[in-house]
Amino acid sequence: MRRNEELVWVFDMDGTLYSNVELMWHETLKEMLKYFRDELHLPVDLSLAEQDRLRDKWNTRQTTVAYFNEFNLDFDKIVEATHLPILDMLMMEGRTGLHSIADLPGRKIVLTNSPEAFAHALLKKLGIHQYFDEVLGIRGDLQHAKPNPLSYARVVTGQRTIMVEDWEENLRLPHINGWTTVWFPESDKPRPTTFPTHVHHEIQSLAELANLV
Ligand SMILES: [Mg+2]
Repeated sequence: MRRNEELVWVFDMDGTLYSNVELMWHETLKEMLKYFRDELHLPVDLSLAEQDRLRDKWNTRQTTVAYFNEFNLDFDKIVEATHLPILDMLMMEGRTGLHSIADLPGRKIVLTNSPEAFAHALLKKLGIHQYFDEVLGIRGDLQHAKPNPLSYARVVTGQRTIMVEDWEENLRLPHINGWTTVWFPESDKPRPTTFPTHVHHEIQSLAELANLV
């Protein structure tokens, strides 16, 4: 068996470690609209059209990053005012086999397109923060989101690197990079018409990851 330090796990967070992502984002957008309009008096409505326009303009998939750039805001304050309060309001539902991550050998990293401060808080709320050696998320000074190659480049890889994602598109580059790719789709989400060739393993529970060691 490989020595543990040669094995690196890279976990997506939203949709991979917990499942009520849409509800979380819906509530976050409501907080963002309140904050941007009532506190900052910005001329925004956070409609889908406006979000799309600003994400295109700033070349990002991340709505928070787009508004941060458009209005030259304080990223940490946005997260504090609009993302963190959500965690107190919502029930978090971990995905199947979540706590088996604790027993996996090797270094474990979270690589998320959510803000880093939010990711730390969310992982604590889920009771799994201690399972991970590193949490890499979006910051005001570090805005690259998957599938931007600069996002994956933040990971210090091992002799073997295994990435786990609910969104198979984000596994294309890891496949090209020679990482092992694991797709953990949510059963209520649409699937591609053909099985993606960049996916090496598909799982129904995080407990199945132990079989890859
Ligand atoms: Mg995800």
